[in-house]
Amino acid sequence: MILITGGAGYIGSNSVIEFLKNGYDVVIVDNLSTGHIQIVERLKNTDFEGKIKDFFEIDLKNKNDLEKVFEKYDFEAVIHFAAASLVGESVKEPQKYYHNNVFGTLNLLDCIIKYKVKNLVFSSTAATYGNPISDLIDENHVQKPINPYGNTKLAIEYMIKDYAHAYNFNYMIFRYFNVIGANKEVITGEWHDIETHLVPNILKADEEKVFSLFGDDYDTKDGTCVRDYIDVVDLARAHRLAFEYIKNGKSDIVNLGTKDGKTVKEIFNICEKVLDKKIPLKICERREGDPAKLVANSARSKEILNWENKTPLEESIKNAYRWEQERKKL
Ligand code: UDP
Repeated sequence: MILITGGAGYIGSNSVIEFLKNGYDVVIVDNLSTGHIQIVERLKNTDFEGKIKDFFEIDLKNKNDLEKVFEKYDFEAVIHFAAASLVGESVKEPQKYYHNNVFGTLNLLDCIIKYKVKNLVFSSTAATYGNPISDLIDENHVQKPINPYGNTKLAIEYMIKDYAHAYNFNYMIFRYFNVIGANKEVITGEWHDIETHLVPNILKADEEKVFSLFGDDYDTKDGTCVRDYIDVVDLARAHRLAFEYIKNGKSDIVNLGTKDGKTVKEIFNICEKVLDKKIPLKICERREGDPAKLVANSARSKEILNWENKTPLEESIKNAYRWEQERKKL
């Protein structure tokens, strides 16, 4: 049995599908603060072999509720996605981020050791690196986050390492770069009430809601920021591979990226091509806290897990668009 926290969210729900497709039984925990009950329903409807064993609408901050889940099921692994994850919001409301992310994970870790769960896969972020000091960011790059969101994820990395060392469980810490796309069956995808991410914002743009490009005066090839985009289905696969890797008594920290950065303008152009139409665009001021370039050295994921991003950008964007149409009906 696998416990997936945040399984009603974007990356968590795609990972639920990945584990189900590979024959695992899954229990989902989500407080539905940013996850959606409709996603849980859609997952259940796709779950042809009844492999979603349970869904708990609970908050990790409530340890009593969480303990009941661990009392009821024996988990081989916890795949931990549940978190607040908006950089801008974290600056305005750090209390929410420290409580949700750090305190919530502390409760989860306490359950992991109390109930002797042996494996943990954690979604950390490239935001723990802060402003990069090298062209490609490898896992040994200095970690100096520049916002509370990154600070909370870094704090959790320390907690996991210290707990695992003392209480003897295996872990994988993944530092994601930019996640886009949707599964091709469009069962689930990106669905934020306040959308801040690039691809959904481009795809949502129309004459009334012109796409705002934040800054074209960066020191990059076309002046717009460079990021490293990976597909959510590939990302989900990495989590299953990680579990299958660590359960043999290993722990590691791995970037999930492609080594191949794309500028905002390049992504915008691909979106126009995929949609086969002109998307209205306005160039705006830089967004506060955006580094010019964030690109992973992704060698380690290949070496340790034989993982690479396989989905071409065009296909990720096409699936994201198809999901966007689907989501409007929900
Ligand atoms: N971006 C943009 N307009 C938007 C959203 C994002 O120009 O509506 C830019 C943003 O400034 C950054 C890149 O797209 O350079 C990726 O932003 P996103 O929020 O998707 O991910 P981040 O890299 O911040 O995690």
